[in-house]
Amino acid sequence: MRRRWWSLAAAALLSMGALVVPASPAMAAPTFKVPFPCNQSWTGQTRTNHSPPYSIDFNRTDDLGDPVVASAPGTVDRVTDLGGTSYGKYVRIDHGGGYTTYYAHLNGFNVSVGQSVGYGKVIGWVGSTGGSTGPHLHYEQRLNGNDIQIRFNGALALYWGSKTYTSDNGCSGSTTGSGTVNTAGANLTVRSGPGTGYDAVGTVADGTRVTIYCQTTGTSVTGTYGTSNIWDRIGSGRYIADAYVHTGYDGFIPNVPRC
Ligand SMILES: [Zn+2]
Repeated sequence: MRRRWWSLAAAALLSMGALVVPASPAMAAPTFKVPFPCNQSWTGQTRTNHSPPYSIDFNRTDDLGDPVVASAPGTVDRVTDLGGTSYGKYVRIDHGGGYTTYYAHLNGFNVSVGQSVGYGKVIGWVGSTGGSTGPHLHYEQRLNGNDIQIRFNGALALYWGSKTYTSDNGCSGSTTGSGTVNTAGANLTVRSGPGTGYDAVGTVADGTRVTIYCQTTGTSVTGTYGTSNIWDRIGSGRYIADAYVHTGYDGFIPNVPRC
């Protein structure tokens, strides 16, 4: 309900011509990828008696100890060992916008809480910890804490049944972009979201080289490079207006995901 309330509030404000942007508007889902390294094929099983119901259990031959990778850029916010129950050893990644992913029954961890991860980053290894009867990866996507139907590259997973998923996670080697801030002198304000109505959370100096993890649309801004509604995510909860960033491209940067 909270999300609905915000979007109604936003519509009301926009219709009044106000320039206020709500603090937590709905954001596009991250582009999630299969949570295994580039080109690997895994069988993903969904079933109605799974908990939570939209989870996928992944397997392949001799999979014990195989690496598990982040399905999208984000910040690791849980690295937890529940012992012999439930998820056992699991990792949760916060992708922003209310989206999280879970990776459970791991054999071991390769990340720590607070760590920023990108596509293809190994976060742990397939195991059989917790309430598991054999090696597999239990994987979930959640929005605002609720289990959601899983999508890879925007395509809905098979509900219900088993399907082979082939990973393109981290294949290109450069799923981040880069750019140089050009304001002709002033510091550029960093916002908590893709718009001028979001909180200012810092600044970057003119001439700073930035890594761009994903791009999305937001408030139109007129800057050094003309008028654009593209915003660049340069960190967790950190966005800058692309109109002030020299990326070498007029629009979206090829290979950089949408946020
Ligand atoms: Zn499971």
